[in-house]
Amino acid sequence: MTASGVAPRAVPAPRDARALLARAAPDWALFLDVDGCLVDFETAPENVRIPAELLQTLERLQHALGGALAIVSGRTLADLDRLFAPLPLACAGQYGFERRSVDGTVHGAPMPDAADVAHVRRCSFALASELPGLRVEDKIVSFALHYREAPRLAEPVQRAAFAIAAEVPGRYEVQPGAMVQELKPTLSNKGNAVNLFRREAPFRERCPVFLGDDFADEAAFAVVNAAGGHSVCIGCDRATLANHALPSPTAARAWLAELLRALEARRA
Ligand SMILES: [Mg+2]
Repeated sequence: MTASGVAPRAVPAPRDARALLARAAPDWALFLDVDGCLVDFETAPENVRIPAELLQTLERLQHALGGALAIVSGRTLADLDRLFAPLPLACAGQYGFERRSVDGTVHGAPMPDAADVAHVRRCSFALASELPGLRVEDKIVSFALHYREAPRLAEPVQRAAFAIAAEVPGRYEVQPGAMVQELKPTLSNKGNAVNLFRREAPFRERCPVFLGDDFADEAAFAVVNAAGGHSVCIGCDRATLANHALPSPTAARAWLAELLRALEARRA
């Protein structure tokens, strides 16, 4: 029982995702988060690089899964394209706020009110000027408050982020992450993004498999679980809805390479 008197919901511990590889099938649809999942965090997100070997694995997985592979990230589409160049990928950026289908069509979510966006941007940058070490990543409609360079700011940044969101109630929310609190519009989340992909070819009627590490990925884990798919939490040291786990981004990349081998062996 917690202090609030509410019994925490029992969530079964996730199982080792390597056991899933025995069930690898060409009718899987693969959804992948990036930071903390495929690659380790860097102090500055722009310093993250995608290893060439992973790019090759993703390209071959795309082929082995009939194109049913998508990136689902908090980064912008432009940033994802820069990271994964030259590989063309279906992507959901900014937690689904912008999304590109396999055929290249780009879909936007309804835009949040411009005055709300301007208010949240102004408050975010004002906060950064008060708290040296805090860095604002301006994603046009979302604002990531990074404090990786100043971990002592964890509490004040969290408090301030919730206070800013409370000024635009119901329109903005706080998405906690690793050394970051992100102010994002409530209009989209990663679960919605996965659902939208699953209405389209080639994702339709496939078994969804989602790899992610963060609180933002829980909405996608819930959607995937409800569809009878496989949810894999990377490096999770917290309660999660994911039914499988892998210890680190290194283990996730090895798992993807093994998945590719399994799928290609089946085809041979
Ligand atoms: Mg992540």
